[in-house]
Amino acid sequence: MKPVKRSRISNDKLSSTGGSFFDHLPDEIVVSILALLSSSANTPADLAAAAMTDRRFSQLAQSKLVLNKASMGCLAVRAKNWSDAADRFLQRCAEAGNTEASYILGMIRFYCACSRRTGAALMVSAANGGHLEAIFSLAVIQFNGSGARKQDRDLTLGAGLCARAAKLGHVDATIELGHCLMDGYGVTSSPLNGRLLLHRAKQLDAESERQQASLGTLYQKTHHANLFLSEWFSLSTDARNGSYYSETSLTELLVADGNMRPCSNAMCGRQETRMHEFRRCSACASVNYCSRACQTADWKFRHRSGCTPRNQGINHNGNQDNVEQVQPEGGHAGAHDV
Ligand SMILES: [Zn+2]
Ligand SMILES: [Zn+2]
Repeated sequence: MKPVKRSRISNDKLSSTGGSFFDHLPDEIVVSILALLSSSANTPADLAAAAMTDRRFSQLAQSKLVLNKASMGCLAVRAKNWSDAADRFLQRCAEAGNTEASYILGMIRFYCACSRRTGAALMVSAANGGHLEAIFSLAVIQFNGSGARKQDRDLTLGAGLCARAAKLGHVDATIELGHCLMDGYGVTSSPLNGRLLLHRAKQLDAESERQQASLGTLYQKTHHANLFLSEWFSLSTDARNGSYYSETSLTELLVADGNMRPCSNAMCGRQETRMHEFRRCSACASVNYCSRACQTADWKFRHRSGCTPRNQGINHNGNQDNVEQVQPEGGHAGAHDV
């Protein structure tokens, strides 16, 4: 950003005219200041508080530059606080070219509001802007045929999207593509390249942890969109119905409540969009996953110690390699359709 020249108006003059310092600054400088605030805000309330200072601030806070720069903290509305106003704010940010806003709102509309078409369109917009989480999420949707019928799954497109995100260093996409190559899911089988990719994913994950540690920050892999989904589906139906779109009928929400299973990876938050959409662990059949990346993550942090094979004859020695080796009954490496 270019350096901003200080106002030549003295404090004496300001006090004599009764105006604030900002009253004497041109709009473009105030917008620049608001954009800086927007890009560094820790909570949605930070920008809202600045916008409420006066009418001029409120108008300038709606400028494309400010909305385009809105930080993750600024966009991270909690599920329990969700409202039509929050939806409109993220929509305006998305329209201003903020890919993070496009992705978050896309995930919320797709999974929480059952607005599959507009949700997917927002995720596509984010993906076209280079948002890696959006590319991977679109791959998950294609692999599962989410929001559509089982026969509408496009495994080749899913693998292609994973390849695009993996090429740019996305860990989960690299894991997913590695498993695809291992068992020929959407791609020509190539176990050697699959193992290489899985090894590469471990390296990328370790590098991320090291980088975060060197910056003195807590390593947090979970995206806000996933945290939102987790919180959203833990709310009561009444709470969700009261805070969301009028276009989502109570019937739809009740159906979703009663029959749809969540991904068993607690850090994922996705819920099935049709019955039996997710695949279950082929050993114990007691957990369900939206993707192999989620199965791998959950195995590492939780399921390794809790997986009890249904058939004790299965060679289940409790290590992660075993999850990859225990082949499904015709499904996607280590998990199968029910
Ligand atoms: Zn998942
Ligand atoms: Zn299991």
